Amino acid sequence: MISVFTEEQKVKILEDLVAIKSVNENEIEVAEYLKKIFEEHGIETSIVPVTDTRVNLVAEIGSGSPVFGISGHMDVVSPGDESKWATDPFVLTEKEGKLYGRGANDMKSGLAALAIAMIDIKENDSLQKGTVRFMATTGEEVGGAGAKKLYEEGYMEDVDALIVAEPSQDVIVYSHKGSMNFKVSSNGQEAHSSMPHLGYNAIDPLTEFITKANTEVRDPSRSNETLGELIMNCTIIQGGQQVNSIPSLATAEFNVRTIPEYDNEEVIDKFNHIAEGLNREGANLTVEVTMSLPSVFTDGKSNLVKIAQALGGKYFGVKPELIGSPGVTDGSNLLRSKGDDFPFMMFGPGLTKMAHKNNEYVDRDVYLKFIDLYEEMIVEFNK
Ligand SMILES: [Zn+2]
Repeated sequence: MISVFTEEQKVKILEDLVAIKSVNENEIEVAEYLKKIFEEHGIETSIVPVTDTRVNLVAEIGSGSPVFGISGHMDVVSPGDESKWATDPFVLTEKEGKLYGRGANDMKSGLAALAIAMIDIKENDSLQKGTVRFMATTGEEVGGAGAKKLYEEGYMEDVDALIVAEPSQDVIVYSHKGSMNFKVSSNGQEAHSSMPHLGYNAIDPLTEFITKANTEVRDPSRSNETLGELIMNCTIIQGGQQVNSIPSLATAEFNVRTIPEYDNEEVIDKFNHIAEGLNREGANLTVEVTMSLPSVFTDGKSNLVKIAQALGGKYFGVKPELIGSPGVTDGSNLLRSKGDDFPFMMFGPGLTKMAHKNNEYVDRDVYLKFIDLYEEMIVEFNK
């Protein structure tokens, strides 16, 4: 396919995207930038508001079925301590064939590659049938509100296949665990530490809660063939203010990675059950679910996965391995009503292990090749 962009222009688009500081906010600028490029090439777009300041972008070519969903998130994680970067994180910098910058890897390169591929397909009139729906999301790195909104507004209803272009250049992820966060608060009564009977120590029942959760929520007997077992950890604990006071408040936070055989609802029930038991003995524990993203399980046997695997071999010399992953994607929200045979995969430029790191990069060559790969993949799937 003849691209309407030169290599320099393709890199410039990534450079422009990296320059937009969409650190879990401000995605609207990314959406407006992409909207402008799409519209210059006659592609209709719609901005889908998520909050007053945050939006998703949807763009579409073709009509009817199959509908191929292509998706990426517009936010990036914070660059952290910028002195630990060798280059300005918001200035895409090329060194020895690598393009450095926040989001170069996770995942403005994937997002740009999908957008450019779609424009080339449109300009070459290469789509034989069906629709390609580009969905750029807001807030993926914290809670996934953008993808949730797209699901709720029906953008996934008629979608027949979905690719999320997260960094995964050497492996194709066709299933992943869910992710949940809990905050458990224990309320007590403050008293002088020499007279504890006048108060109620908030820490005591909380430590019991943690011990019980560690034994009762973890269940090595249940495992998913691809994803393994559920993982649960208490990761933050806080309580008390002064060493000689009986504490009136203590909190513990937990992160849980769920599997289809042991899902988010069941984990919520277990957390509540443990708290209720301790509350009957005099504790005052409350359980709050602060995030809940379900797991995504597909069988990985779809035509889409086969096409992508063959193209990976063609462009990079080795066929990418098919794997399940512990990390979550927007697939958790987008695929809420899809079955095990749904063609889903995460496959995009950049190495997964590079995501969220200082001095994050994507290989220039890999970024450019993924544009061609996506073009072939989309045309092949919708023929
Ligand atoms: Zn990402």
